[in-house]
Amino acid sequence: MPARTILQLGNEVLRQKAKPVSKGMRGLRKLADDMFATMDNAEGVGLAAPQIGVPLQVIVVDAEDVRMAVVNPEIVKTSEPMVEDDEGCLSYAGFFGPVSRYQSVVVKGRSLDWKKVRIRANDLLARVFQHEIDHLNGTLFLDHVADPDQLQRAEADDEPDAPTRGA
Ligand code: ZN
Repeated sequence: MPARTILQLGNEVLRQKAKPVSKGMRGLRKLADDMFATMDNAEGVGLAAPQIGVPLQVIVVDAEDVRMAVVNPEIVKTSEPMVEDDEGCLSYAGFFGPVSRYQSVVVKGRSLDWKKVRIRANDLLARVFQHEIDHLNGTLFLDHVADPDQLQRAEADDEPDAPTRGA
């Protein structure tokens, strides 16, 4: 399960709406394995299939001790407050900026073996889910950064904290 190339800002796949996965799709587990490998290789906290050029509704997350793939994920509940924190994206490597997200969300979807899953996520995990599900709609974190001047360049020797590790 090789790490794949992560598409960068400017690639049109990142701006497309991803398609739902249908039950029994061949290659789903292989796709998820490659996504985990790609996320780990980039030391990210999440990844969406469009970021490796596959316009399907599949995400992987690795935050707050939760490591899982979710197929056809959907946010079904959001809870205030909104929390602003620095956020980065593996498809816009080297930059981060402040994004407001719901502090907690409930996500529904399917596991790789097609069981229904429902996850209540808080804090960083909630942020990662919102970021990845945005990717499935062609939205990037910088669309949420109010002022482009707030985007900062990460220095190569920085020890970035988790949200700016990218997703
Ligand atoms: Zn991203």
